[in-house]
Amino acid sequence: MIHLEGIARTYSVEGQSIPALAGVDLHIGRGEHVAITGASGSGKSTLLNVLGCLDRPSAGSYRLEDADVATLDDDALSELRNRRIGFVFQSFHLLPRLSVLENVLLPLRYCLDPVPGAEDYARELLGRVGLADRMAHRPQQLSGGQQQRAAIARALLLKPALLLADEPTGNLDSKTAADVLGLFAELHRDGQTVVLVTHDPDVAERAPRQVRMRDGKVDHDSGR
Ligand code: ADP
Ligand code: MG
Repeated sequence: MIHLEGIARTYSVEGQSIPALAGVDLHIGRGEHVAITGASGSGKSTLLNVLGCLDRPSAGSYRLEDADVATLDDDALSELRNRRIGFVFQSFHLLPRLSVLENVLLPLRYCLDPVPGAEDYARELLGRVGLADRMAHRPQQLSGGQQQRAAIARALLLKPALLLADEPTGNLDSKTAADVLGLFAELHRDGQTVVLVTHDPDVAERAPRQVRMRDGKVDHDSGR
């Protein structure tokens, strides 16, 4: 489903070039659950941003399902990102003035066409992540773990082919983190493709496949 070949991403800062990714080859099949690990600065977030079409590589090829990502224009890229990819972030990124249900429905704002049944599906997802009785709450009335569950429901609203998470348990205590990781594992069992970034080896071990980054390259891949 995901084919990365020779992916490089170089940042230039004050005339100096920083190779955040220096030739990444990575293939991920449909339905896999992969943890990307590595020390701080090893290129994990840059890789996730490329995977999520939030950033374009400086070199290399990226194929996601049928799309040759490098050749897409900005509109096609944002359409792909919106419809095929769900994102979960360390700091949840929920909007404080909206209810939990409204937050889960936010991806609709970026859809050009109506999405029939979206509100029913949002309620179903919130039930699934254990927030059936919190839909009318504001995000700040929820615990951190509940906020992350709401963010996961939001990421799933448009039935993305690929669910990406960057340090999703970074702001959670260990018990809550374990619950959230259990939810990712459950989604994977139901066939969702999940790629998660973490610097924490214990978090990475929960995924069936670990890919370790070092200096912008894949240093070790436990394989499928
Ligand atoms: P990780 O997520 O593994 O901590 P990153 O992908 O964030 O690593 O960063 C990889 C390297 O690229 C680091 O050296 C970082 O300083 C650099 N980097 C990341 N983002 C930027 C940016 N926007 N501008 C310049 N350098 C960056
Ligand atoms: Mg990072």
